Amino acid sequence: MSRFLDGKRNGLDPYVPGEQPKGGILIKLNTNESPFPPSERAVKAAEEAARNLQLYSDPECSLIREKLAETYSVGPENVLVTNGSDEALNFAFMAYCSENSPAVFPDITYGFYPVFCRLHSVPYREIPLKDDFTIDPDEYLGSGSMVVIANPNAPTGVELPVKDIEKIIRGNPDNIVLVDEAYVDFGAESCVGLISRYDNLLVVGTFSKSRFLAGARLGFVIGDAGLIADLDRIRNSTNPYNVNSMTMACGAAMLEDADYTNECCRIIKENREYTASKLRELGFCMPDSKANFVFAAHPEISGAEIYGRLRENGILVRHFDKERIRNFNRITIGTMEQMKQLISTLERILER
Ligand code: PMP
Repeated sequence: MSRFLDGKRNGLDPYVPGEQPKGGILIKLNTNESPFPPSERAVKAAEEAARNLQLYSDPECSLIREKLAETYSVGPENVLVTNGSDEALNFAFMAYCSENSPAVFPDITYGFYPVFCRLHSVPYREIPLKDDFTIDPDEYLGSGSMVVIANPNAPTGVELPVKDIEKIIRGNPDNIVLVDEAYVDFGAESCVGLISRYDNLLVVGTFSKSRFLAGARLGFVIGDAGLIADLDRIRNSTNPYNVNSMTMACGAAMLEDADYTNECCRIIKENREYTASKLRELGFCMPDSKANFVFAAHPEISGAEIYGRLRENGILVRHFDKERIRNFNRITIGTMEQMKQLISTLERILER
């Protein structure tokens, strides 16, 4: 840190992204990326867009916004396009939270939410998940805060049924309820269908997980037109060209290749069920996951030791050194071959 950093920023505790290893790792299962590449059509679209990079990108994001609107059966005025969904979350915290407008979310959830709170001086409350890692919607009613729910939750993979989310939305009519659906396409139900009925609901999505474009940085928000206009004011007050032309073209092509993405997601779900059943045979406990990862703990070996032993064997998973979840590792679902290698390595580790 230099001596010039503003005092207000001294206390920041930034988000620590999962490691992007430079070498030595054979199987990377730590950041919930897809084992499948973007479609050929999407790569070509990005290549074509690269030919016009002397021009600024479209600040209205028209092409991708219209395609998203079509995909989710909403109007383009209900869609905002962002540079990854992290940017969408940041815009929402900037628009709806402040020193006097707090936020609330579960104690075990996406680690970026408290980081945004600290960045924007937003007081926040963390409501403990139940012991089985589920959310009790009654604990979120009348919160007087922006409610942020990842559904399915990360890093647990546990889904909160849409009827429970609707209860939370109804129970907070004067506050925003933001549902972060980064992993929804791996088997959970989306809340997008509720946006026409609730002017306090924001649904955040990403192309990083089920559309295989983590490196392109493409996210979006769907909500009431008034809310989207609020977020657009924030966008235009920070970075009006927030999404680059290659990413927009590539993302639009991925939306046209829904057969490809759906089939790959189907395989990931199949591999998840295989992995979960094999891990349970090995004695691991884990909640049912509706995401592209599982969250597993073994009763005999600590989470940190499993993380370390897998790493020595060239397999990288994610371990969070946080009290209630220290014994768990979050394991991204990869190809069947990768999952078989994971299981055989764990078999050896458990034999000791
Ligand atoms: N929400 C959740 C729950 C996540 O796990 C992630 C991925 N780290 C994000 C949002 C952000 O994803 P991206 O910025 O790549 O869209």
